[in-house]
Amino acid sequence: MAEKSPTINRRKFVADGLRVAGAAGLFGAAGLLTMRRGGEPINNLWQIDPNKCVACGNCATHCVLDKSAAVCKHAFRMCGYCNLCTGYFEPEAAELTTGAENVLCPTGAIVRTFVEDPYYEYTIDEPKCIGCAKCVKGCIAFGNGSLYLQIDQDRCMHCNECAIAVACPSEAVRRVTAETPYLPKDGDPES
Ligand code: SF4
Ligand code: SF4
Ligand code: SF4
Repeated sequence: MAEKSPTINRRKFVADGLRVAGAAGLFGAAGLLTMRRGGEPINNLWQIDPNKCVACGNCATHCVLDKSAAVCKHAFRMCGYCNLCTGYFEPEAAELTTGAENVLCPTGAIVRTFVEDPYYEYTIDEPKCIGCAKCVKGCIAFGNGSLYLQIDQDRCMHCNECAIAVACPSEAVRRVTAETPYLPKDGDPES
């Protein structure tokens, strides 16, 4: 992957990233479109409280969908932009490179991009994410906890009884309203 110029100011890079995220409506418009059946809003949506999630891995295996509706999000405002990201690298990684043998994510869903020495940005390629929570666990254990899971309301079937909620050991999955379909960890719906 091409590295970004080291002359890019990190603060500007982050700000630009947030603007792009906002323009893309990562948490907003796309989700709201799926909240209407027969023109009526679905007011009881399932969502993960990221402050209760213990990254057990059940999200990936208990959703009724083949590919879980749970996906990783990144609270950029909480991230340390670490070179040694414990949500990205295997604990015993031989090298801090993007080689598959060195990284935690089983699907290559985390993109590592150089910002400026010694900072790197980590973004989630959500269509590739299977909600396994390996990165979330690594970030909680040794990092800032900026990686977290959310139920993608566009993927979710809005089951009456969420199978993930039943399987969750920490009661992290609860009902939310269509007005607040996501529970961003840093409180910023555009992060
Ligand atoms: S490690 Fe798992 S939860 Fe994290 S981005 Fe990869 S597939 Fe998604
Ligand atoms: S409501 Fe159904 S589709 Fe949505 S996350 Fe739960 S089990 Fe998966
Ligand atoms: S089942 Fe609960 S604790 Fe386990 S990864 Fe999903 S939300 Fe987190």
